[in-house]
Amino acid sequence: MTKSEPQKTSIETLLHENRKFKPQKKLFNNYFLKDMSQYFKLYKKSINDPLKFWEKMALEHLDFFRKWKKVFSWKDFKAEWFSGALINVSYNCLDRHVITDRKNKAALIWEGEPGDIRTITYQQLLLEVANCANMLKGIGLKSGDKAAIYMPLIPEAVVTMLACTRIGVIHTVVFGGFSSSSLRDRIQDSNCKALITADGGFRKGSSVKMKEMADEALKETPTVKAVIVVKRTNEKVNMMPNRDFWWHELSQKYSDHCEPEKLSAEHPLFILYTSGTTGKPKGLLHTTAGYLLGVTLTAKYLFDIKEKDIYWCTADVGWVTGHSYLVYGPLSCGATVFMYEGAPLYPEPDRFWKMIAKHKITILYTAPTAIRSFIRLGKEYPQKHDLSSLRLLGTVGEPINPEAWIWYYEVIGHKKCPIVDTWWQTETGAAMIAPFSGVTPTKPGSATLPMFGIEPLILNKNGSNSKEGGFLCIKKPWPYMARTIYGDHERYKKTYWKEIEGVYFTGDGARRDKDGYFWIMGRVDDVINVSGHRLGTMEIESAAVEHPMVAECAVVGRPDSIKGQGIVAFITLKKSATVNHSLKEEISKFIIKQIGALAKPDEIRFTDALPKTRSGKIMRRLLRELATTGSISGDTTTLEDFSVLEKLRESDEE
Ligand code: ATP
Ligand code: MG
Repeated sequence: MTKSEPQKTSIETLLHENRKFKPQKKLFNNYFLKDMSQYFKLYKKSINDPLKFWEKMALEHLDFFRKWKKVFSWKDFKAEWFSGALINVSYNCLDRHVITDRKNKAALIWEGEPGDIRTITYQQLLLEVANCANMLKGIGLKSGDKAAIYMPLIPEAVVTMLACTRIGVIHTVVFGGFSSSSLRDRIQDSNCKALITADGGFRKGSSVKMKEMADEALKETPTVKAVIVVKRTNEKVNMMPNRDFWWHELSQKYSDHCEPEKLSAEHPLFILYTSGTTGKPKGLLHTTAGYLLGVTLTAKYLFDIKEKDIYWCTADVGWVTGHSYLVYGPLSCGATVFMYEGAPLYPEPDRFWKMIAKHKITILYTAPTAIRSFIRLGKEYPQKHDLSSLRLLGTVGEPINPEAWIWYYEVIGHKKCPIVDTWWQTETGAAMIAPFSGVTPTKPGSATLPMFGIEPLILNKNGSNSKEGGFLCIKKPWPYMARTIYGDHERYKKTYWKEIEGVYFTGDGARRDKDGYFWIMGRVDDVINVSGHRLGTMEIESAAVEHPMVAECAVVGRPDSIKGQGIVAFITLKKSATVNHSLKEEISKFIIKQIGALAKPDEIRFTDALPKTRSGKIMRRLLRELATTGSISGDTTTLEDFSVLEKLRESDEE
């Protein structure tokens, strides 16, 4: 979307989804909020006087070493929350639980892909974190330095993140599935002094050679002076003398006691790169107290984490969801967190369901892309297992199509688990729009209502309120938002605060229904303009996936001399689908029937797979390029599977 685009300034809406699910109180009546009237009352209070609200929440939910002098200031788009306060994240995630009954409670239950299991109590985790913090100091890191973490999803990844926070080292976690060039770019961009990695990790039955990949990156990252390597796969690796150290050897040299540093509230906590769905990833910088407050509050209220829950967020620590809801949010709440190293469908497509039954997982938080891949395989896999321990299901990452929502609700949740669809971004730090579990009535495909203290707006380009669909913005700064794009504050200002003057611009399109519920319609960049009507991608895709043969659909626009833009739908079919020559026609009619003639695809292409980011999101920009020019030249560094591009080109030649 460019500023010069004419006429229509809003996005029209099409999705006709009227189902509403009331919370089933009788199943679990111990939620943190009593009812919706309590939500509305608290929400109103939080919006009328946000500073008072955030201050109260901070006092109630976090432990500070020293209280703040000023709750909030905002100069040159630089936010400061709780200035003057001293705090430590690892103290809040560990020490404060260890001094209570939670000392011997499991903090982490981990399952490796080969089936090995480790359980680590809060007490043990604290010792490991302290020991790791001492190692980090030992290799020369001090408060304010940066370290890269490039690891499989093993407990040491969590230990290292927390160890960094203990001594004020700023971490940048790079997803373990990324190649050496992605790792190199991120280390260079964020000036890391050290790298913590592993020999390898297990994925789909084989081992991924991570140290080898890291060595390749390290050839061009002279800032990195030391590397700590966890032994996970027993891979044969090269260790460079005086630079590379085995974790298990180095750790022997250090004690497992390390005082948490008293850090200022705005001390940088981490730099994290976005998924790269819309372009080159941006390195967002988050800071300490505000971020921790956001993840703690949302983990507590939205996921309703209670003492006995076994909570599983399937995201990798390489993504913001892994930061906020695998590590910091749940641990700050004192939860038992389950984590799994490997691929979801390995060795069989029922791996997830098997683990849920085995570990009696109560809360599951995953992504629509995973749900759609399970739907594609069929419900016989979840049905083989006892999923009765589940009481709450969350989703994040993309709009969830109503069809997938219903499947998740019925097949996985057996119609008894609330679906918590959380809308947020790397930039927002924690959830912004989401139902309060068990309290907010839900509607399939809607993230429902805002979190306390967050005021979303739907605006036209000129900043006026839109009655139909428009640009999703946030009215005021909030404590857990990213403070800057590392090294490029100008870009931060321009991308988030100047697109529509004075409000935070999310880059997503949304609409609000008569109940005040928010419906995310897709990225602003992906909006399609057909004969002057602006359509979100979500609606057409959701209509397509309701067709019994369709597994996934990605819709893009391409220039059309008559309509301005035409619609191209890329579709993957269910395993059980039978393809005949009229199927495309049938799907097209199916879409028209639900939405109207306006949404008729000009072309439907069947493909084996859609291009996705490593975090599982559909990269429509690549499809748009392909549909428009017949080739792809945009940034593909975060693409999950490069062979998909070939397959897409083949589908082109059909
Ligand atoms: P980049 O900014 O590099 O293009 P990205 O936006 O995919 O990457 P993230 O910060 O991981 O990186 O993703 C945030 C985006 O994901 C949101 O802006 C939104 O488009 C989408 N999203 C996340 N959760 C939801 C949800 N529950 N419903 C709808 N969309 C969602
Ligand atoms: Mg984004």
